Amino acid sequence: MNKSILVTGGAGYIGSHVCKALADKGYRPITFDNLSKGHEWAVQWGPLVKGDIHNTDVLMSAFQEYQPVSVMHFAASIEVGESVADPASYYYNNVSGSLNLVRCMLAAGIDKLVFSSTAATYGIPQSKYIDETHPQQPINPYGMSKLMVERIITDCGHANGLQHIFLRYFNACGADAENTIGESHSPESHLIPIIMQAAGGQRDKLFIFGDDYGTPDGTCLRDYIHVTDLASAHILALEALLNGAGSNVFNLGNGKGYSVLEILNAAEAVTGKKIPREIHDRREGDPPILVASSEKAKKTLGWKPKKNLEDILSSAWRWHCKQNGITQQ
Ligand code: UDP
Repeated sequence: MNKSILVTGGAGYIGSHVCKALADKGYRPITFDNLSKGHEWAVQWGPLVKGDIHNTDVLMSAFQEYQPVSVMHFAASIEVGESVADPASYYYNNVSGSLNLVRCMLAAGIDKLVFSSTAATYGIPQSKYIDETHPQQPINPYGMSKLMVERIITDCGHANGLQHIFLRYFNACGADAENTIGESHSPESHLIPIIMQAAGGQRDKLFIFGDDYGTPDGTCLRDYIHVTDLASAHILALEALLNGAGSNVFNLGNGKGYSVLEILNAAEAVTGKKIPREIHDRREGDPPILVASSEKAKKTLGWKPKKNLEDILSSAWRWHCKQNGITQQ
């Protein structure tokens, strides 16, 4: 019998790509998702338990039924701008939901957890590349909510033997090579899918949030990492835990910063479309630069990200075309 892994948020963007990678590796992903943002069509590699991480009864019965050897925890609210406007929901969904999940895991005797964390826990960078020792001083409620969960899990690691790996992602993007899953939020707030909507005519234009940052072209720099590369890191992290490697934390990025304008120009080249854009005010809560050092994941986990910016944009465009019935030239 394949080992079961309970994946909260497995119907979401990163979670569904990880479920696919788990199945490819011979695990049985059990998706636990309330489908508030996730999609039933994205659950293709194992059963779906429809439930909310606040719901102790549903969680406990899923643990009882499937006997997972580990949990991978993705279920969360994930938008910086929304978190600034509505922090209470972010602390409720992300902190209180995760706390309930952890309490249920402890009650069920499940002692391994891979937690989906974020570069937003770091705040304003104090060095060109951010490594895992960088101070964590988030500047938005989203980042703070994830940091609070890291703290809860760390404390339960010390007190209760909960072994955990935190994966702090930089900017997840792109779509699966087989084009059966990809990024699909409603409403969309992330740069690359919005660019694709503007390229495909599903939106009039892209607003560039600020061109007066202290960066070479004035727009924010981010480290864009393909979701398939993220998924492979999750498998390595899970296997490290299952092999008794103990708790750890890893940044996941490509180590290269691209500005919003650079992404736009590269997307025009990949899609062959002119992408209308307009300069807008800065978005509150945005650090000017976030670029990872992922040396630790490479050394310790043997992780090798394989996809470059062109792979990211071409897979995102292919997925966008499929979702919107656009025939690709
Ligand atoms: N961005 C933008 N216009 C948009 C969406 C995003 O200029 O419509 C910028 C945003 O300010 C940030 C970068 O693109 O500098 C990446 O934003 P995204 O929301 O994709 O990810 P985040 O970095 O917030 O996790």
